This record gives sequence, C-alpha cells and structure tokens, in this order.
Amino acid sequence: CGDSASAEQQVDSVCPYCGVGCQLRYHIKDDAILFVEGRDGPANQGRLCVKGRFGFDYVRHPARLTRPLVRRAGVAKALDPAFDPANPLTHFREASWEEALDLAADGLMQLKQAHGPNGLAGFGSAKCSNEEAWLFQKLVRTGFGSNHVDHCTRLCHASSVAALMECIGSGAVTASFMQALEADVVILTGCNPAVNHPVAATFFKQAAKQGTRFIIIDPRGQAMGAYAHRVLRFHPGTDVSLFNAMLNVIVEEQLYDADYIAAHTEGFERLKTQVRGQTPEAMASHCGVDADEIRAAAREFALADKAMIFWGMGISQHTHGTDNARCLISLALACGQTGRLGTGLHPLRGQNNVQGASDAGLIPMVLPDYQPVTDAQVRAAFEELWSTKLDAEPGLTVVEIMEAIHAGQIRGMYILGENPAMSDPDLEHARAALAKLEHLVVQDLFVTETAQYADVILPASSWPEKDGTVTNTNRQVQLGRQALSLPGESRPDWWIIQQIAQRCGLPWDYQHPREVFAEMQQGMPSLNHISWERLEREGSVTYPCPADDAPGEDVVFSDTFPTASGKASFSPVRPLPPDEPVDRHYPTVLSTGRQLEHWHTGSMTRRALVLDALEPEAVAMLSPGEIRRLGMQAGERLTITTRRGEITLVARVDEGMPNGMVFVPFCYAEAAVNLLTNPALDPYGKIPEFKYAACRLSPAAPS
Ligand code: SF4
Repeated sequence: CGDSASAEQQVDSVCPYCGVGCQLRYHIKDDAILFVEGRDGPANQGRLCVKGRFGFDYVRHPARLTRPLVRRAGVAKALDPAFDPANPLTHFREASWEEALDLAADGLMQLKQAHGPNGLAGFGSAKCSNEEAWLFQKLVRTGFGSNHVDHCTRLCHASSVAALMECIGSGAVTASFMQALEADVVILTGCNPAVNHPVAATFFKQAAKQGTRFIIIDPRGQAMGAYAHRVLRFHPGTDVSLFNAMLNVIVEEQLYDADYIAAHTEGFERLKTQVRGQTPEAMASHCGVDADEIRAAAREFALADKAMIFWGMGISQHTHGTDNARCLISLALACGQTGRLGTGLHPLRGQNNVQGASDAGLIPMVLPDYQPVTDAQVRAAFEELWSTKLDAEPGLTVVEIMEAIHAGQIRGMYILGENPAMSDPDLEHARAALAKLEHLVVQDLFVTETAQYADVILPASSWPEKDGTVTNTNRQVQLGRQALSLPGESRPDWWIIQQIAQRCGLPWDYQHPREVFAEMQQGMPSLNHISWERLEREGSVTYPCPADDAPGEDVVFSDTFPTASGKASFSPVRPLPPDEPVDRHYPTVLSTGRQLEHWHTGSMTRRALVLDALEPEAVAMLSPGEIRRLGMQAGERLTITTRRGEITLVARVDEGMPNGMVFVPFCYAEAAVNLLTNPALDPYGKIPEFKYAACRLSPAAPS
C-alpha cells in the first residue's frame, strides 16, 4: 500500500523484542524506517511499548556489520577495552563471503574430523525466526552430528518448560494472556509485566479495572501493584515454602476441586502428604509474609470461579526453578483452573521468538515439537525426513557447553545471534571458555562481546530486513515481512546457515524461508493447518489449530492432557535453600533482569537513540533504607562484590526494592552484572540462579 506522492511505503510485521508479539507497521522512506505504529494484532490491538515504537535505530546503525570479518593473525582472543565495534579492522580484516564461509566451515569440519561430533556445539537464538531456528538445529544435528545445540531459553524458561512437560505434557502456555480479561482472579508471580511485557500489562490493567482481582506474589514491589487486590512480598528464595503454604490451606480447608482432580489428574494424595504441616503459620516468618495474607490469597485463588497464574523469570531462574513451577501447576490443578475460558497457566515468554525457537528444536534433549532425541521412533521419523542418521544422546545445555570447553571436549562453536559473553552466569569463566575455543564462528549484526572472541564473523540480517515467522507467548505464529534492503554485503541468516551447511557436506537448496516452513510442517504437528500462505493472508494463527479455516485454540486441555494417561500429574516438592545463601560476608541478595527500555544484552536497544537517552548508564536498584544503610545518596557510585568478582555502577532508589536486596539489569557491558552471578544450575531445567546470589555492597572508592 505505497503512497506515490510521498514515496512512502508501509510494511506489516511483528515487533522484534519481547514475547508479547505486537503486530506493527513500518513506515519506510528511502530504505529507512521513518516511524512505526501498532497494528490491530491479536496480542496488541494497536498498542506498542517504547521499544516497539522507538527501538529500530540499530538497523541502520553505523556499527552494523556489512562485510565478513576474519581475525587478524596474532590478535589475542580477549575483550580489549580499547576495541571499537564501529571500527573492527583493528582486530579483524575484511574477507569475501567465499573466503569467510570456507574458513568458517573448514575450521568446524577439521575439528569434527579430529575430535568427532562431540567436539562441536552451536548456540542458536530466540531472536531468530522459526525457519532460521529450524535450519540451525538441523545443521548441528545432521552436519555436526550431535545434539549439542541450545539457545537462551536455557537462561529464561527452561525450568518452566521442564515442569510443564512433566506435569501436563506440554511446555507452552495453556491460555493466552488475553484470558486475564475473563478471569475472576489472576496470580502474577516472579514477573514484572509493566517492565518486561508492557503491552500484556496494559491488558492486565484493563482486566483489573473490569474487576479481575490481581494477587501479586513477588519480593519486589512493582507498577502493577497499584492495580492489585493483594500483594505478597516474600523473602527472595522462599517461593516453594510460600506456595506450599498456600497448597496447605487449600488441602486442609478442602478448597480443592475434587471432581476435577478425580477426572483430570494423578498424584493428589502425594501432594496432600507433602504439604502437610507446611501451614501459613509455620512458613510465615521464613517467607516474610503474614500468615493471614497467605491464607487469604490461597482462599481467594481456590474459591474463584475462573483463575489464572502468570509467571516470569523470578520463578524460573533459581536452582529450584522447576520446583517453583511445579508448585504453580499444582495450585492450578488442585483448584481445577485449566481448560476453561479465564483459567490457565502462562509462563510469560521473554524474547520475541523463544517459544518458536524452542518449538523448532533449538534444545539439546528434544527434536522439534519437544520430541525426545532418545525416542527411537521419533528419531526414525526425522531420519527419514532429513535422510540421515541422528545421534540418540541428549546434547549439552548452554552452561554445560561452557564447562565442556574448559574440559577440552568442545573445541569449536557456531554462535548465531547469541551473546554468551554477556548473558551467561559467571562471565569470567564463560569468557575464558570462549577464548579457549580453537574455532569460533559468530553470525550477528554487530561485533558483540561474543564476536570479539570469534575467528570468523558473518554479517547477519536484522528483523526488518527479512521474511520469517515467529511464535509469541500466546502460541500465535505470526509473519514478519521484509521492509528494508540489507546493508552492504550482509545476508539473510537462512542463506548464511545454508552456505555453512553446504560446506559441511549437506545437500541443502532452499530458495526462500517459505520452503523451510513447509519442511517444518512435516516434522511439527503443532503447525498443522498453519501454512505460510495462510499466514500471508491472516498474519497470525494460534496453534494448535484444528482446520485450515478454523481459528487456533486460545485455551487448551479442556478434556485431556497430552500425557500417556491423558491426565495431568501433581509433582509435590519440598523447599530447598538457594545455592548460595547470604551470610555475614555476603549479606545482600543480588538479583538480575531487564529494564523497560533495554533488551537482553543491549546490543540493539543501546544503539537506539530514544531508548539509550532514557536509560544511558548502568544502574543498580536499591531500597531507600539500603541506600541509607550504606551512607550513600542516590546517584552515587556503588560497588557490588560477589565471590566471582565486582562491578561499580550508579545507585538508584527504587521504592519497590526490599531491604537486603539489590537488582541490576544485565544489559550494560561497562558494568556486566553477570560477572557476579552464580552459575549453579537447576537440576531439571539446567537454568542458572540469576535471581539469587550472595553479594556485598559498598560505596565505590573515589576514582
Ligand atoms: Fe514489542 Fe513487547 Fe513492547 Fe509489544 S510489548 S512493542 S512485543 S517489546
């Protein structure tokens, strides 16, 4: 629908940032984005947050990679403080695509020859399209020959998925966030939607105004608190104790839905036994929440006709993250709160395509659609589809791959759109692993911190420069369309992956992402009745979808669950302490996460003028009491120390912070908080404990 008078074009797409999946329209002139407006998409109804409106300067940023780069001989693999990503030729030289691709693939294949398939690994990205995720995991599985492929879902909701798969047989949400408008009671826990899922938060606020009662359960206060009926602020790390106390009330006061439990679940007796004695009174002081409040919250949730639970990484990023999610699932199952309008379980997904990238198989223990690599029948189906043998051993996860590099097992890596040199826990250790790699290929938009360790850097495409599908937190598969040409010699990601695959001996010949999507439909039952052509017409279709002309299912599991018995199961758990409890040497809890204006490791949003102007410098959020205790004023510089390192940054007062806790966003390279975080993993989801590390605070020494 171009406007010839102004030569302005409009192209419809989806926001590249969070898992809400807002549909948007680019207004384009002279091959640049003039401005962006929201469309009437199923997840946003015309709304956009500040990132979706003002977050696109990165696309035409002068530091964009426009030619392949190869590390100069003799340049050490390390983060050089003097390195300027806008002038990378100090450390790298430009190369032709032929030379760079040959070097990239030869290096990987030589390591495979010398050390076998287990010598290589790949990180894909939740920022990639579904088609790119599919191709990347297929390359690792069929070209490298192992299942050592993972991505940042490991760092956000892997524990939620582990619990959901175990208890209800599916890792995706059971209902969209729009169902909050139908619910009587909504629990928000371990999430801060006004910051991390801003447009979803607008619908939550709308629901609250219509009468939905929100119960917020979180150590930190937040903007949604103004809309809440009840707020329970508990001590960090005591989640399971608090949820078990709520379950105790539901069991002891017989508030559970006995008919639902009998018809749809297994294991309730085990749950009853597990929560016996964990009364609100017994847990109150440990959790820091008044027993009456716990009791009231449990009653309110259990007695609601329709209730939902939303959670975020405050739940998942713990060594007991899977246990936390198991408790939330138990709450919903015990009260019969799934399978109907206004009910359900919804882990709010972080990145724009973390749902789709996981569905497409960027996970080391499962093939696409969460089909286990250990299942011979599953492997046989994919072996037929891809005409090759597949490895039956589950692969290593993100943090495990770093350990395997240190142990000398993994020798070479291909990293697409991920930035583990900023996003992994205990960064000194992770960066040392990247430096140790004998061959590292990085495909990205910029010379990120990770790319500074690369042997070969391949210039990728940004989201407005390509066609592709993404899947949001609501299971809505949505189409993004190319709006801009690619700068310089940068190339579409699917094309680059295919070039590497061909050089690894794979006979790939895709001409367009729609051909990849068609192949995905053959291996992913979740995409039944969702063709590329349908997405071109409709823009968004929810899975599962029962027919070519039917809308997808917003709420699932009304009758049965996709488990062997057709029933969901309770998975009772006992409280465990954090891996690194506070003590007299490190008396404060360090928690990390995101800010509204910045995204993940900041490589895109810190290159957006408006966003960077709003949040230009590294900050740490502290309660007024904590600032006073330190003898500091807001705006002064603070040093945070853990057993792994120290950083210095600006102290900011946050009225929502409890005393004894500090929160730091992880997007600031100049004060990378992941230098401090604890790499201890949840044993099921293999997710690190980003939400709890013991630290010490002090005013920064004068510089
Ligand atoms: Fe983009 Fe999420 Fe903001 Fe929507 S809420 S505009 S998807 S960042």
